[in-house]
Amino acid sequence: MAALFEQAGGRSKDPISAAERHFDIPVAGVLSRHRQIQERIQSAQSSQADIPALGLHYNAFYEHHDTGSGHPESALRYRMLRQALEGLPAEILRLPGRRASTSEVLLAHEAYYQDLVYRDVESFADILRTGDTAISIDSYDVALEATGSVLAAADAVMQQTVKRVFCAVRPPGHHATADHGMGFCIFNHVAIAANYLRKHYTLKRIAIVDWDVHFGNGTEAIFAEDPNTFYLSLHESGNYSGNSDGDTDRPPSQATLNLALPEGSGSDEALTAWDTTGGPALEAFKPEFIFISAGFDARKGDPLGGLNWEDETFVELTQRVMALAEKHAEGRIVSVLEGGYNPAGLVSAALAHVQAMR
Ligand SMILES: [Zn+2]
Repeated sequence: MAALFEQAGGRSKDPISAAERHFDIPVAGVLSRHRQIQERIQSAQSSQADIPALGLHYNAFYEHHDTGSGHPESALRYRMLRQALEGLPAEILRLPGRRASTSEVLLAHEAYYQDLVYRDVESFADILRTGDTAISIDSYDVALEATGSVLAAADAVMQQTVKRVFCAVRPPGHHATADHGMGFCIFNHVAIAANYLRKHYTLKRIAIVDWDVHFGNGTEAIFAEDPNTFYLSLHESGNYSGNSDGDTDRPPSQATLNLALPEGSGSDEALTAWDTTGGPALEAFKPEFIFISAGFDARKGDPLGGLNWEDETFVELTQRVMALAEKHAEGRIVSVLEGGYNPAGLVSAALAHVQAMR
Protein backbone atom coordinates (compact mmCIF):
# COMPACT_ATOMS: atom_id res chain seq x y z
CA MET A 1 0.00 0.00 0.00
CA ALA A 2 1.13 3.54 -0.62
CA ALA A 3 3.55 5.03 1.88
CA LEU A 4 1.32 8.06 2.29
CA PHE A 5 -1.50 5.76 3.29
CA GLU A 6 0.68 3.90 5.78
CA GLN A 7 1.94 7.13 7.30
CA ALA A 8 -1.64 8.23 7.73
CA GLY A 9 -2.43 5.25 9.91
CA GLY A 10 -2.84 2.16 7.76
CA ARG A 11 -5.95 0.07 7.26
CA SER A 12 -6.53 -1.02 10.85
CA LYS A 13 -7.06 2.47 12.31
CA ASP A 14 -9.64 5.18 11.87
CA PRO A 15 -8.54 6.88 8.62
CA ILE A 16 -10.18 10.21 9.42
CA SER A 17 -8.36 10.56 12.74
CA ALA A 18 -5.19 9.36 11.07
CA ALA A 19 -5.58 11.88 8.29
CA GLU A 20 -6.17 14.63 10.81
CA ARG A 21 -2.80 13.78 12.33
CA HIS A 22 -1.10 13.46 8.97
CA PHE A 23 -2.52 16.46 7.19
CA ASP A 24 -3.21 18.53 10.30
CA ILE A 25 -6.74 19.23 9.12
CA PRO A 26 -9.72 19.07 11.51
CA VAL A 27 -11.99 16.70 9.58
CA ALA A 28 -14.44 16.39 12.50
CA GLY A 29 -14.92 20.17 12.41
CA VAL A 30 -15.62 19.98 8.69
CA LEU A 31 -18.28 17.33 9.28
CA SER A 32 -19.95 19.47 11.94
CA ARG A 33 -19.95 22.51 9.65
CA HIS A 34 -21.64 20.44 7.00
CA ARG A 35 -24.41 19.38 9.31
CA GLN A 36 -25.22 23.09 9.62
CA ILE A 37 -25.14 23.55 5.83
CA GLN A 38 -27.41 20.53 5.46
CA GLU A 39 -29.97 21.90 7.93
CA ARG A 40 -30.02 25.22 6.11
CA ILE A 41 -30.49 23.56 2.73
CA GLN A 42 -33.22 21.28 4.01
CA SER A 43 -35.12 24.17 5.53
CA ALA A 44 -34.94 25.99 2.18
CA GLN A 45 -36.23 23.06 0.17
CA SER A 46 -39.74 21.74 0.19
CA SER A 47 -40.01 18.03 -0.28
CA GLN A 48 -42.25 17.35 -3.27
CA ALA A 49 -40.78 14.04 -4.31
CA ASP A 50 -42.82 10.86 -4.28
CA ILE A 51 -39.65 8.82 -4.51
CA PRO A 52 -36.52 8.99 -2.38
CA ALA A 53 -34.59 12.12 -3.31
CA LEU A 54 -31.06 10.79 -3.02
CA GLY A 55 -29.17 7.55 -3.35
CA LEU A 56 -25.53 6.95 -2.55
CA HIS A 57 -23.15 4.38 -3.94
CA TYR A 58 -19.74 3.63 -2.46
CA ASN A 59 -17.71 0.46 -2.05
CA ALA A 60 -14.48 -0.36 -0.21
CA PHE A 61 -13.56 -2.53 -3.20
CA TYR A 62 -12.50 0.63 -5.06
CA GLU A 63 -9.64 0.93 -2.58
CA HIS A 64 -8.04 -2.15 -4.21
CA HIS A 65 -6.96 0.03 -7.17
CA ASP A 66 -3.41 0.69 -5.90
CA THR A 67 -1.74 3.67 -7.59
CA GLY A 68 1.50 3.40 -5.61
CA SER A 69 3.35 5.40 -3.03
CA GLY A 70 2.59 9.10 -2.87
CA HIS A 71 0.12 9.12 -5.76
CA PRO A 72 -2.53 11.85 -5.39
CA GLU A 73 -5.34 9.59 -6.64
CA SER A 74 -4.89 7.35 -3.62
CA ALA A 75 -6.92 4.73 -1.82
CA LEU A 76 -6.68 6.98 1.24
CA ARG A 77 -8.53 9.86 -0.39
CA TYR A 78 -11.28 7.46 -1.35
CA ARG A 79 -11.40 5.74 2.01
CA MET A 80 -11.87 9.02 3.84
CA LEU A 81 -14.74 9.96 1.54
CA ARG A 82 -16.35 6.53 1.84
CA GLN A 83 -16.27 6.61 5.62
CA ALA A 84 -17.77 10.11 5.65
CA LEU A 85 -20.58 8.93 3.36
CA GLU A 86 -21.14 5.88 5.58
CA GLY A 87 -21.74 8.31 8.43
CA LEU A 88 -24.66 10.02 6.69
CA PRO A 89 -28.17 9.18 7.93
CA ALA A 90 -29.56 5.74 7.20
CA GLU A 91 -32.65 7.15 5.46
CA ILE A 92 -30.50 8.06 2.46
CA LEU A 93 -30.83 5.11 0.11
CA ARG A 94 -27.64 3.06 -0.35
CA LEU A 95 -27.40 1.58 -3.83
CA PRO A 96 -25.51 -1.62 -4.58
CA GLY A 97 -23.14 -1.65 -7.52
CA ARG A 98 -22.42 -4.21 -10.19
CA ARG A 99 -19.69 -5.14 -12.62
CA ALA A 100 -19.98 -3.77 -16.16
CA SER A 101 -19.91 -6.26 -19.00
CA THR A 102 -17.39 -5.99 -21.81
CA SER A 103 -20.16 -5.05 -24.24
CA GLU A 104 -21.16 -2.20 -21.94
CA VAL A 105 -17.59 -0.86 -21.87
CA LEU A 106 -17.67 -0.91 -25.67
CA LEU A 107 -20.54 1.59 -25.66
CA ALA A 108 -17.84 4.28 -25.38
CA HIS A 109 -14.52 2.48 -25.93
CA GLU A 110 -12.77 0.60 -28.73
CA ALA A 111 -12.53 -3.17 -28.28
CA TYR A 112 -8.76 -3.16 -28.64
CA TYR A 113 -8.44 -0.58 -25.85
CA GLN A 114 -10.59 -2.62 -23.47
CA ASP A 115 -8.39 -5.61 -24.30
CA LEU A 116 -5.24 -3.52 -23.81
CA VAL A 117 -6.33 -2.58 -20.30
CA TYR A 118 -6.97 -6.22 -19.48
CA ARG A 119 -3.58 -7.32 -20.82
CA ASP A 120 -1.65 -4.51 -19.11
CA VAL A 121 -3.21 -5.38 -15.76
CA GLU A 122 -2.67 -9.12 -16.24
CA SER A 123 1.00 -8.54 -17.08
CA PHE A 124 1.56 -6.73 -13.75
CA ALA A 125 2.30 -3.41 -15.44
CA ASP A 126 2.33 -0.46 -13.06
CA ILE A 127 1.20 2.08 -15.63
CA LEU A 128 -1.25 1.86 -18.51
CA ARG A 129 0.72 1.92 -21.74
CA THR A 130 -1.54 4.62 -23.25
CA GLY A 131 -0.75 7.27 -20.68
CA ASP A 132 -0.35 8.54 -17.15
CA THR A 133 -2.67 6.14 -15.36
CA ALA A 134 -1.14 4.02 -12.62
CA ILE A 135 -2.54 0.47 -12.40
CA SER A 136 -2.26 -2.55 -10.15
CA ILE A 137 -3.41 -6.15 -10.33
CA ASP A 138 -7.00 -5.30 -9.32
CA SER A 139 -7.39 -2.19 -11.49
CA TYR A 140 -9.30 -3.84 -14.34
CA ASP A 141 -11.85 -5.35 -11.95
CA VAL A 142 -12.17 -2.13 -9.97
CA ALA A 143 -12.69 -0.06 -13.13
CA LEU A 144 -15.39 -2.47 -14.35
CA GLU A 145 -17.13 -2.29 -10.97
CA ALA A 146 -17.03 1.51 -11.07
CA THR A 147 -18.51 1.64 -14.57
CA GLY A 148 -21.18 -0.96 -13.82
CA SER A 149 -22.20 0.83 -10.65
CA VAL A 150 -22.75 4.08 -12.52
CA LEU A 151 -24.94 2.13 -14.97
CA ALA A 152 -26.86 0.65 -12.03
CA ALA A 153 -27.35 4.16 -10.63
CA ALA A 154 -28.65 5.38 -14.00
CA ASP A 155 -31.08 2.45 -14.07
CA ALA A 156 -32.24 3.26 -10.53
CA VAL A 157 -32.98 6.84 -11.53
CA MET A 158 -34.75 5.88 -14.76
CA GLN A 159 -36.84 3.27 -12.94
CA GLN A 160 -37.72 5.83 -10.24
CA THR A 161 -36.17 3.88 -7.42
CA VAL A 162 -34.55 7.17 -6.52
CA LYS A 163 -34.43 10.66 -7.99
CA ARG A 164 -30.72 11.48 -7.82
CA VAL A 165 -27.59 9.46 -7.07
CA PHE A 166 -24.06 10.32 -6.05
CA CYS A 167 -21.64 7.57 -7.11
CA ALA A 168 -18.37 7.63 -5.20
CA VAL A 169 -16.26 5.53 -7.54
CA ARG A 170 -12.64 5.33 -8.61
CA PRO A 171 -10.57 5.41 -10.71
CA PRO A 172 -11.99 8.61 -12.27
CA GLY A 173 -13.10 8.56 -15.90
CA HIS A 174 -13.40 11.87 -17.74
CA HIS A 175 -9.90 11.90 -19.29
CA ALA A 176 -10.35 8.46 -20.89
CA THR A 177 -11.05 8.68 -24.62
CA ALA A 178 -12.43 5.83 -26.72
CA ASP A 179 -8.97 4.29 -27.11
CA HIS A 180 -6.73 6.04 -24.61
CA GLY A 181 -6.55 5.90 -20.82
CA MET A 182 -4.80 8.89 -19.27
CA GLY A 183 -4.97 11.34 -16.36
CA PHE A 184 -5.57 8.59 -13.74
CA CYS A 185 -8.58 7.36 -15.78
CA ILE A 186 -9.20 3.90 -17.29
CA PHE A 187 -12.85 3.73 -18.44
CA ASN A 188 -15.04 6.79 -18.97
CA HIS A 189 -17.94 5.83 -16.71
CA VAL A 190 -20.12 8.84 -17.51
CA ALA A 191 -19.67 8.52 -21.28
CA ILE A 192 -20.51 4.82 -21.15
CA ALA A 193 -23.56 5.56 -19.00
CA ALA A 194 -24.84 8.25 -21.37
CA ASN A 195 -24.72 5.81 -24.28
CA TYR A 196 -26.19 3.07 -22.08
CA LEU A 197 -29.20 5.26 -21.29
CA ARG A 198 -29.71 6.03 -24.93
CA LYS A 199 -29.58 2.34 -25.78
CA HIS A 200 -31.97 1.12 -23.08
CA TYR A 201 -34.41 4.01 -22.67
CA THR A 202 -36.12 6.48 -24.96
CA LEU A 203 -33.99 9.42 -23.96
CA LYS A 204 -32.57 11.70 -26.61
CA ARG A 205 -30.91 14.75 -25.06
CA ILE A 206 -28.38 14.02 -22.31
CA ALA A 207 -26.20 16.63 -20.62
CA ILE A 208 -22.87 16.09 -18.88
CA VAL A 209 -21.86 18.89 -16.51
CA ASP A 210 -18.16 18.54 -15.67
CA TRP A 211 -16.87 20.83 -12.93
CA ASP A 212 -13.61 18.98 -12.27
CA VAL A 213 -10.75 21.51 -12.28
CA HIS A 214 -9.26 19.65 -15.26
CA PHE A 215 -10.80 19.67 -18.72
CA GLY A 216 -12.52 16.34 -19.50
CA ASN A 217 -10.89 15.73 -22.85
CA GLY A 218 -12.08 12.14 -22.99
CA THR A 219 -15.75 12.93 -22.59
CA GLU A 220 -15.54 15.80 -25.05
CA ALA A 221 -13.80 13.63 -27.66
CA ILE A 222 -16.26 10.76 -27.30
CA PHE A 223 -19.23 13.07 -27.96
CA ALA A 224 -17.54 15.50 -30.35
CA GLU A 225 -19.83 14.53 -33.24
CA ASP A 226 -22.96 13.94 -31.16
CA PRO A 227 -25.33 16.93 -31.07
CA ASN A 228 -27.60 15.17 -28.56
CA THR A 229 -25.02 14.92 -25.79
CA PHE A 230 -24.22 18.33 -24.38
CA TYR A 231 -20.82 18.48 -22.71
CA LEU A 232 -20.43 21.52 -20.45
CA SER A 233 -17.04 21.88 -18.77
CA LEU A 234 -16.00 24.40 -16.12
CA HIS A 235 -12.28 24.05 -15.59
CA GLU A 236 -9.07 25.93 -14.89
CA SER A 237 -7.46 27.54 -17.91
CA GLY A 238 -4.01 26.16 -18.67
CA ASN A 239 -4.27 23.13 -16.39
CA TYR A 240 -4.19 19.46 -17.57
CA SER A 241 -5.48 18.27 -20.23
CA GLY A 242 -5.41 21.14 -22.70
CA ASN A 243 -8.33 22.64 -24.66
CA SER A 244 -8.51 25.16 -21.86
CA ASP A 245 -8.95 28.34 -23.80
CA GLY A 246 -12.67 28.31 -24.24
CA ASP A 247 -14.76 27.11 -27.13
CA THR A 248 -13.73 29.63 -29.76
CA ASP A 249 -12.16 26.99 -32.03
CA ARG A 250 -15.23 24.78 -32.04
CA PRO A 251 -17.94 24.66 -34.67
CA PRO A 252 -21.21 26.03 -33.29
CA SER A 253 -23.09 22.85 -34.21
CA GLN A 254 -21.26 20.85 -31.57
CA ALA A 255 -23.02 20.51 -28.27
CA THR A 256 -19.89 21.34 -26.31
CA LEU A 257 -19.23 24.35 -24.13
CA ASN A 258 -15.87 24.86 -22.47
CA LEU A 259 -15.76 27.51 -19.78
CA ALA A 260 -12.12 28.03 -18.87
CA LEU A 261 -11.69 29.93 -15.60
CA PRO A 262 -8.52 31.90 -14.80
CA GLU A 263 -6.04 30.45 -12.33
CA GLY A 264 -6.67 31.70 -8.83
CA SER A 265 -10.30 32.56 -9.48
CA GLY A 266 -13.00 31.60 -7.01
CA SER A 267 -16.70 31.23 -6.49
CA ASP A 268 -17.77 34.52 -8.09
CA GLU A 269 -16.07 33.75 -11.40
CA ALA A 270 -17.46 30.22 -11.49
CA LEU A 271 -21.03 31.23 -10.72
CA THR A 272 -20.87 34.16 -13.13
CA ALA A 273 -19.67 31.82 -15.91
CA TRP A 274 -22.54 29.51 -15.09
CA ASP A 275 -25.20 32.19 -14.84
CA THR A 276 -24.19 34.12 -17.97
CA THR A 277 -23.12 31.29 -20.29
CA GLY A 278 -23.29 27.70 -19.04
CA GLY A 279 -26.71 27.73 -17.45
CA PRO A 280 -28.47 29.48 -20.37
CA ALA A 281 -26.84 27.06 -22.86
CA LEU A 282 -27.99 24.07 -20.84
CA GLU A 283 -31.41 25.63 -20.49
CA ALA A 284 -31.67 25.96 -24.27
CA PHE A 285 -30.57 22.34 -24.72
CA LYS A 286 -33.37 21.05 -22.47
CA PRO A 287 -31.64 17.89 -21.22
CA GLU A 288 -33.75 14.87 -20.36
CA PHE A 289 -31.06 13.48 -18.04
CA ILE A 290 -28.06 15.16 -16.42
CA PHE A 291 -24.80 13.56 -15.40
CA ILE A 292 -22.36 15.47 -13.25
CA SER A 293 -18.68 14.69 -13.60
CA ALA A 294 -18.14 15.75 -10.03
CA GLY A 295 -14.51 16.52 -9.43
CA PHE A 296 -13.74 18.41 -6.25
CA ASP A 297 -10.23 19.55 -7.19
CA ALA A 298 -11.43 23.09 -7.97
CA ARG A 299 -11.78 23.51 -4.20
CA LYS A 300 -9.21 25.76 -2.55
CA GLY A 301 -6.15 23.92 -1.30
CA ASP A 302 -6.15 21.12 -3.86
CA PRO A 303 -2.61 20.06 -4.77
CA LEU A 304 -3.51 19.58 -8.45
CA GLY A 305 -5.84 22.54 -8.89
CA GLY A 306 -5.34 26.28 -9.05
CA LEU A 307 -8.90 27.48 -8.39
CA ASN A 308 -10.25 28.68 -5.05
CA TRP A 309 -13.77 27.35 -4.87
CA GLU A 310 -15.47 27.02 -1.49
CA ASP A 311 -17.77 24.20 -0.40
CA GLU A 312 -20.57 26.70 -0.95
CA THR A 313 -19.56 26.99 -4.62
CA PHE A 314 -20.35 23.30 -5.08
CA VAL A 315 -23.66 23.79 -3.25
CA GLU A 316 -24.59 26.69 -5.54
CA LEU A 317 -23.68 24.77 -8.70
CA THR A 318 -25.51 21.68 -7.46
CA GLN A 319 -28.66 23.69 -6.82
CA ARG A 320 -28.48 25.25 -10.29
CA VAL A 321 -28.13 21.82 -11.93
CA MET A 322 -31.00 20.50 -9.80
CA ALA A 323 -33.24 23.37 -10.88
CA LEU A 324 -32.53 22.59 -14.54
CA ALA A 325 -33.12 18.89 -13.96
CA GLU A 326 -36.44 19.59 -12.24
CA LYS A 327 -37.54 21.77 -15.14
CA HIS A 328 -36.54 19.53 -18.05
CA ALA A 329 -35.41 16.10 -16.84
CA GLU A 330 -37.94 15.07 -14.18
CA GLY A 331 -35.20 15.78 -11.67
CA ARG A 332 -32.94 13.00 -12.99
CA ILE A 333 -29.28 13.41 -11.99
CA VAL A 334 -26.45 10.93 -11.60
CA SER A 335 -23.35 12.56 -10.14
CA VAL A 336 -20.08 10.66 -10.45
CA LEU A 337 -16.89 11.34 -8.53
CA GLU A 338 -13.92 12.43 -10.65
CA GLY A 339 -10.93 14.25 -9.04
CA GLY A 340 -10.25 15.88 -5.68
CA TYR A 341 -6.81 15.29 -4.18
CA ASN A 342 -6.72 17.09 -0.84
CA PRO A 343 -8.38 14.31 1.19
CA ALA A 344 -10.03 16.56 3.77
CA GLY A 345 -11.04 19.07 1.08
CA LEU A 346 -12.53 16.26 -1.01
CA VAL A 347 -14.60 15.05 1.95
CA SER A 348 -15.77 18.55 2.78
CA ALA A 349 -16.77 19.56 -0.77
CA ALA A 350 -18.33 16.19 -1.63
CA LEU A 351 -20.45 16.23 1.53
CA ALA A 352 -21.63 19.74 0.67
CA HIS A 353 -22.61 18.49 -2.81
CA VAL A 354 -24.38 15.42 -1.45
CA GLN A 355 -26.27 17.36 1.19
CA ALA A 356 -27.44 19.83 -1.44
CA MET A 357 -28.95 16.91 -3.36
CA ARG A 358 -30.94 15.54 -0.41
ZN1 LIG B 1 -9.29 16.74 -11.97
